[in-house]
This record gives sequence, structure tokens and C-alpha cells, in this order.
Amino acid sequence: MERNSKTQALVLHVKQIGENNRLVTFLSCEKGVFSAVLYGGPKSKLRSLVSPYHFGNLWLYTDKAKNSTKITDFEVLKYHPEIRENLYKNWCASFCAELVMKTEAGGENEKCFRLANAFLDGISVSSEDECRIAVLRFIWRYLDILGLQPECKCCVHCEEGLDKSAFYSSVDDGFICEDCASINSSGNENGLISNAGFFHLSESAVAFLQTVTYLSAKEARNVPLKYSDSSELHDFLFFLINTATEHKLKTLLLEQTLL
Ligand SMILES: [Zn+2]
Repeated sequence: MERNSKTQALVLHVKQIGENNRLVTFLSCEKGVFSAVLYGGPKSKLRSLVSPYHFGNLWLYTDKAKNSTKITDFEVLKYHPEIRENLYKNWCASFCAELVMKTEAGGENEKCFRLANAFLDGISVSSEDECRIAVLRFIWRYLDILGLQPECKCCVHCEEGLDKSAFYSSVDDGFICEDCASINSSGNENGLISNAGFFHLSESAVAFLQTVTYLSAKEARNVPLKYSDSSELHDFLFFLINTATEHKLKTLLLEQTLL
């Protein structure tokens, strides 16, 4: 069986295979994460079009008997040139691509396709400071795609609504209000805070997570975040995503050098 098909896709990764060919990994709404071969020498016009983080209309030719898919054409709709020009934006995009590839879009192709494209569109037009907050929102939303986003409305112990500063405990896989945390840590000299996987989150950091969870993307973008809150959220969210991906993301190791 042979057939031609067309889809809208985002280029996640390009890898050289042999002398003239490239194996390209894409994300599309219908197919999720998939690969196709780009044939052609250095003069092939497709080589520059099929580059990481380009988004557009992709034409494929699939030979089921040979179990191979090749790229026949690619019309770029978004180049995202800003991502190439800024080191931090470039890291954001490569982190997004690696996360999507290693988690196979979390099995949520449509949600993942929308989130990854919105993230790349967003960081393209944002300042570097805004990008650092956009990454926090992206990780929190991606945890939802993976089915690993902890519920942030109430305390896991007393079920009271969280409207003040709180703690996250990986042992409980949830948030604990200040009152329950003080009960739990009494009598324990080291307290809970010494445990790995235990994080303090300020009132506004908790509110930030709730906003991203329950409000629209546009509303969430307008919530300001203090530097101290973003640093708390950074440690907390990078812990969660590292745990979720079993510390397999190379880009997460690299991020430390860009702080
Ligand atoms: Zn409580």
C-alpha cells in the first residue's frame, strides 16, 4: 500500500542519516509524534525549509510495504526566527521538543499539539523575562497532559481550599496547607522541609498555579509574578517534570547553565 497524505506539523528534531538524508521528527494533531525521511543532497530546497521549530503544511508519501515515510514537500507557515537568535528561547524550544518526543506527546496528541505550538508562538514574541515565566506555565500544563498535575485547589489532608502559602509534598503527591504542615512537622526536629520533594510555595505562587489551571491562557498570561515566586515555582516545577520524565531530559541538565 502506498499513499500520499498531507498534515499540519511542527518540526521537533532533524538528524542526519547517511551522507545526504535526514530523519525528521514531527508533531501533528492527528499523528502525534512521528518521523519521516528527507531525501536529497545539499542543493535540495527542502533542507532549509524542514528545520527545527518550523511549522507548516507537510506532504508525505508512505510505503506501507517498506514501512517508510518520506517527505515530499513542506510549506512553512511559521519560521519562528526569534528562537534561533536568542540562547534562552532556543533552550525553551529544545526543551519543549525533547519533552514532547520522550513522552510521545503524553498520548494526548491534540492537546500536546496545541500547547507546544502556542508555547513556541508565545516565546517567539516575548521578552526573555516573559519566556522564563512562560516555561513555568508550559511545564504546569504539560504535567496535565501527562496526567501528573497535582490538584492545587485544596489541601490533601484537610481538604480546605488553598488561599494562602502552602507546601507541596511529593510523598502525598499534593499540596498541604500551612496548618496541616505545622501539625505534621511538630515533634520532628528536622521538620518536613528538609525532605527532598517538599517545597514551600508563597501565596502568590499558589495563586499563579491556580490561575494557569482554571483560567484561560490569555487571562493567565496577565498574572504578574514576583522574582521570588518565580524562583520557588522554578524549583518546584523542574522537580516535578524531572521526576515525571525519570531525569532523562538532557535539556534539563543544560538549563542550569542558562540561569
Ligand atoms: Zn490542610
